[in-house]
Amino acid sequence: MKPLFSTLLALATSAAPLAASAQLAQATPVDTVTARAALLASTRQYPKFYRALCTVQQQHTLLRKLVLVRNGRNDGPAAAFPNGVVRLDVRYLESPQPGFDDNRMVVVFYHEIGHLHYFRTVPVARRTADANERAAFDYSLQMTQHLADAGDCGPLQAGLRFMLLRSQSSNLADPHVRALQSLVQEPAYADYRRYVAQHCPPGPTGF
Ligand SMILES: [Zn+2]
Repeated sequence: MKPLFSTLLALATSAAPLAASAQLAQATPVDTVTARAALLASTRQYPKFYRALCTVQQQHTLLRKLVLVRNGRNDGPAAAFPNGVVRLDVRYLESPQPGFDDNRMVVVFYHEIGHLHYFRTVPVARRTADANERAAFDYSLQMTQHLADAGDCGPLQAGLRFMLLRSQSSNLADPHVRALQSLVQEPAYADYRRYVAQHCPPGPTGF
């Protein structure tokens, strides 16, 4: 068996051009040396994210490739594609981006894996942008609750906080916002809040 790090590196650099509309689709894959350095840095700077990446890579077949890219514009950290590729803007691993600490990067990562799960389980004809985003948020909540069950509440608390913040956006052209506006009104969201209140140490922001 190949060492995990070299497997991840192969995942991160074997990029093939893809047709997709997201901005990250036009981004340029970084070279192997850059990808290696960024992944190595993430083991120190974002250890929870790196652990989540290893877990998914070992336990799932959903993630076929993680492609580290350098995007001209900063349009957010990541994007997922129906062929099992997740693209991650290498800047988010190279240096801390505002609002994206290790906990948030775990949430982002599981959000993208949630998209891959949606692509795998929902036929093309039945997919909608809103349901796709909702599935991704739901998946990240489920996965980060597993982490909380195992003793680390940070990612779940970060996810709940940023989902509520983003739901307050008025940008209804964004399916993330539309999905969140209904999610935060629903009992499932309140259940996660209640879980945090009962099982997690209170965070500085009330989550
Ligand atoms: Zn999404």
